[in-house]
Amino acid sequence: MTYNTVYADIHCPFCNEKVTSGVGFRLGCLENKHYKLGDKLKWEGSLCRPETRPAGGSIQAIGYFNCDYVKCKTWSDCFPEVQAALVTVKNDVIEKVEVYKGPFSGEQFEIIKPAKGGAKKTTSKPKKK
Ligand SMILES: [Zn+2]
Repeated sequence: MTYNTVYADIHCPFCNEKVTSGVGFRLGCLENKHYKLGDKLKWEGSLCRPETRPAGGSIQAIGYFNCDYVKCKTWSDCFPEVQAALVTVKNDVIEKVEVYKGPFSGEQFEIIKPAKGGAKKTTSKPKKK
């Protein structure tokens, strides 16, 4: 499976250490590219996910990482555990990577939402008779 990797500082929920970890995610052009926070996501290529760039270049999806803080004494506890992270892309820029605790749909590399800026829940308007 082809995916991209973004390197970010993540607070591991298992050992409670801040680790710099590579998070595998499937957004933009999938070509095993390495990104870091603040990088612009590439959308040109033969294999893209989603197939077309979302409006505004904004999207959120699940990525996966292993805590690799070797010096931590709980390393053996958390190392084999694949953990989920939420990757936020805004205006094509990888803005944020944070630990994600769910809910999960069960779909791998699930796309959480097109992150629409300022989108709010609209309450139903009162209807006039
Ligand atoms: Zn850890």
